[in-house]
Amino acid sequence: LTDILVLGAGSAGCILAARLSADPACHVTLVEAGTKATDPDIARPEMWPFLQGRAYDWDFTTTPQPGTAGRIHHWARGKALGGSSNLHAMFHVRGHPADYDDWVAASGSAGWSYDALLPHFRATEAWSSGADDLHGGSGPMPILLPDEQTHPLVRDFMRGWGALGMPRLRDHCGRELIGTAPNALMIRDGKRVSVADAWLTPEVLARPNLTVLDGAQVHRLRIEGRRVAGAEVTRAGASLLLEAGRVILSLGTIGSPLLLMRSGLGDPELLRAAGVPCRFKRPEIGRNLQDHLLGAGNLYRARKPVAPSRLQISESLSYQAADPARITGRPEIVVGCVVAPTAAEGFAAPPPGEGFTLLFGVTNPTSRGQLHITGPEIGAPPMIDPAYLQTEHDRRLFRVALRRAREIGHSPALADWIAAEVLPGPKVQEDAALDAFIARAAITHHHPVATCRMGKDDAAVVDADLAMRGLDNLWIVDASVIPSITAGPIHAAVMAIAEKFADRYIRSS
Ligand code: FAD
Repeated sequence: LTDILVLGAGSAGCILAARLSADPACHVTLVEAGTKATDPDIARPEMWPFLQGRAYDWDFTTTPQPGTAGRIHHWARGKALGGSSNLHAMFHVRGHPADYDDWVAASGSAGWSYDALLPHFRATEAWSSGADDLHGGSGPMPILLPDEQTHPLVRDFMRGWGALGMPRLRDHCGRELIGTAPNALMIRDGKRVSVADAWLTPEVLARPNLTVLDGAQVHRLRIEGRRVAGAEVTRAGASLLLEAGRVILSLGTIGSPLLLMRSGLGDPELLRAAGVPCRFKRPEIGRNLQDHLLGAGNLYRARKPVAPSRLQISESLSYQAADPARITGRPEIVVGCVVAPTAAEGFAAPPPGEGFTLLFGVTNPTSRGQLHITGPEIGAPPMIDPAYLQTEHDRRLFRVALRRAREIGHSPALADWIAAEVLPGPKVQEDAALDAFIARAAITHHHPVATCRMGKDDAAVVDADLAMRGLDNLWIVDASVIPSITAGPIHAAVMAIAEKFADRYIRSS
């Protein structure tokens, strides 16, 4: 019997385990399917695209997507202590304050505003550039704000946007997001820092009141009446029943709803089809799924050699409104500069060093899909349908984003770098042709959220305190509770969610 059972040692779960076990009187058990990450490539920032598909990636796949030319998308998810922070691209972006206004409206709680979250963002961070009112200086996660390491191509990209009237921002974490900045990265001494590196330090792991059960699969929740009493787990071939005073689910946007469904919570029809008796009708579990896509990409053959990146190949993002004259408020599109000739599968790209790519995308897409189990056991592959590009809003803004990428690509600032546009190629100009190209070029930005959405309505999966509606003694703390996607990469928000939950828990107990 443990006081707190944290299921899932990903980005959120590691923070919870470290923060909650700081009280020696509180016994915390952290359960994770993967083990300690030992692949040395994980630490090498430039290797991040090549980690996918390795043993510590769950490697989920979507259904064929009508919005992306019938393609199936691989969804990487980390399976190791630190979860997806072992695989991610290390960008640290908070998004725009208006993203969090949407969370306030959805949850009915002012506690989810950007300003209310600011102490929690700051508490996670140790910026290389130092602390101020907006940036943390002594948190566990190092945030590198690149300066002299920035690639010359990327300097010209940022200069070019300035010449076109876009603001130059310090980073993507302040109150304004429209503008261009170097990507702040979760890197220290040239190496990736995962959430496990930052929070599950040797000192934390040595605490007698923290038990880490790695290599352990969580199959089902143990539910007695309406009370969640623990979880059924297998480890090294043995079945374990873990009983707990309180249970926190941190299995991520895919893992958390799947576990709830295997435990008999969800849409009765879907559960019946999967062979699971429905114990609690909660149809919203697994719905509302949102993700960012990026067009990969607006690809150029270079006029001169493009040296390798000294950081992570994607070095700068420029967030913008659809109307370029609007340079304040919430962005709608993004254009990124990648110091490598990156392209979606199905396209030929020049060799490394001979080209580069401008990625483009929509910051707050409105397409929403769903996921669900297909069988009662953990090994049954889930059905994942993100419903990519199903709204005219998303398709229209994607065209705007591609045209905006071309604008900087063909601007004087990049003239010295460009021999020719390879993708989509000069002939692709009309809306229909752009749509057809985008459908083939879109790849996941790896930010699925909202399958256990937080909300003030009775149908929502969790309330504003992240307590599961309809059950006692269960909280969900991970990316699945995000009610609507933030404008940028979501990891900063996930860390702040876990930090806020831990802070409130400690104060109230
Ligand atoms: P996770 O970190 O995925 O943790 C869930 C944990 O639960 C995992 O360790 C998993 O193994 C475990 N688990 C799941 N099911 C079970 C089970 N049944 N039994 C036991 N354990 C289980 N975000 C950014 O902000 N910036 C980026 O640059 C960025 N790039 C990304 C690139 C890639 C390739 C990927 C995959 C993600 C990226 N993200 C990025 C997104 C970000 O990493 C995730 O949103 C975030 O890590 C999610 O945290 P989480 O705690 O919700 O889930």
